[in-house]
Amino acid sequence: MKSLKTSVRASEGIAIGRAFVVKRELKISDRQKGSAAEERELFAQALEQSRAQIEALASDSDIFAAHLEMIEDPMLTDSVESHIEEGMSADNAVATSSEEIVAMFEAIDDEYLAARATDVKDIFARITANLSGGVVNPFDGVQEGDIVVDNELMPSDMAQLDFSAIRGFVTTQGSSTSHVCIIARNLSIPAVVGLEEALSQIATGDTLIVDGSEGRVVVNPDQQTINDYLVKQLNMLSLHKEQQQVSLSKVSYCGQTIDVLANVGSVEEVERAIESGADGIGLFRSEFLYMQGSVEPTEEEQYEVYSAAARACKGKPLTIRTLDIGGDKAVPYMGFPKEENPFLGWRAIRVSLELRDMFSRQLRAILRAAVHGDIRVMFPMIVEQEELHEAKRILEQCKAELAQQGIAYNSDVKVGVMIETPAAVFVADDLAKNCDFFSIGTNDLVQYIMAADRANAKVAHLYNPYSAAVMSAIKMTIVAAQGAGIECSMCGELASDSNATELLLGASLRKFSVNIGAIGKIKYMISKL
Ligand code: PEP
Ligand code: MG
Repeated sequence: MKSLKTSVRASEGIAIGRAFVVKRELKISDRQKGSAAEERELFAQALEQSRAQIEALASDSDIFAAHLEMIEDPMLTDSVESHIEEGMSADNAVATSSEEIVAMFEAIDDEYLAARATDVKDIFARITANLSGGVVNPFDGVQEGDIVVDNELMPSDMAQLDFSAIRGFVTTQGSSTSHVCIIARNLSIPAVVGLEEALSQIATGDTLIVDGSEGRVVVNPDQQTINDYLVKQLNMLSLHKEQQQVSLSKVSYCGQTIDVLANVGSVEEVERAIESGADGIGLFRSEFLYMQGSVEPTEEEQYEVYSAAARACKGKPLTIRTLDIGGDKAVPYMGFPKEENPFLGWRAIRVSLELRDMFSRQLRAILRAAVHGDIRVMFPMIVEQEELHEAKRILEQCKAELAQQGIAYNSDVKVGVMIETPAAVFVADDLAKNCDFFSIGTNDLVQYIMAADRANAKVAHLYNPYSAAVMSAIKMTIVAAQGAGIECSMCGELASDSNATELLLGASLRKFSVNIGAIGKIKYMISKL
């Protein structure tokens, strides 16, 4: 018996089953390299074949819709063609470009964007397969109930592997924001990723216990260990069932209704959140819309997305946060300047107030979509009153223009402020008089109050949402909101932490905006208090 452990959070739950170790082999083509023109033509055919395959998958998958945009990006074609011009075969040129572009993504100092390197690999693997006449299906031999062990699972593996038929998976690579983890959490499949020794320590046919909550894999466990995990699995299942029952109902505390809203980044996630019992969306991170493509989404494209999200909310509130980029979230096509201190630099509302045309396009799209539901708009990283005034002035200008152009919009959209800087906490009384709601963003608030970078493991012990200073800031914010009679919610990760629920309720927080996976857990906790 061997016990292996990783610290990456992938997908909770326990699975016990047979290991299937994936072997990926490309069919090797034995052709001779042709002239540059012939190689270019071969690449063009494989590219078109790949594009058509992805297009067929894109209509019902956000992941493949993003792949479609990526494969149509001229950067990809230019890169491969330039390598062919240098004298490489189409296969070599594709492999070289893949390495270069993947390395570029992996170097981005943002977990979400760096995880998109997997999509790039996936697209290049498809082109390579089409160039060499297809791949051998690496999942041939997977039996129902197996636990799949692989170097890295790709989104397109979904076309070849029925994820709902496997019991769990283990990979040597991947982060908690990789697509495959998102899919696993979606389907409630226990998973452990980033377990470096998985492929060297596990063979097909081994018995595995995958404990996604602990990030642990036990290889060939003894009977006592299996029994212990079976008990743990049963306990988790019955708790999960109870949580699910609670999640679809309203919860209250001391006679007051408590809203448990959700944090999302796409229309698909809005749908899932509402199905999971969310009382609305407390944070729609609009920046993902800007980060997916290679150009800014048009007003019309944004209008479509926000309208679809509003409809998916089925009358429940949808809080759209305006573009929150900069800091660690780069949008390559915007050409952000290199900064000494990006978290203290040009980000969020600071960018929007400078790039006014872009900001107006987003606000117009939000105002127009608000005809289809209870849409609210929220400004990130506010530090002073003037920023709120200026953002509201631009919002009013957008309304006036829409009215003049005879375009339908909702003039009563509520306006909110994210409280995620110490400055905003100190002037919360004044801000509260000029907006309709607050949402406390503890992810940033903690880093600014504790002077500890949220992404730096060296100072993780200081990045503590339970510290006295943070708790005091949270209370000050809630008191300021109460004083002005406006709503106050929390959309930072602390709201998804069930250990903090009682403390936050005690501080008079009445709205929690949480990860989709935490809706049941937080509602259950509130119902028990
Ligand atoms: C926050 O800062 O708490 C927040 C919700 O925003 P983000 O994590 O997107 O910065
Ligand atoms: Mg933030």
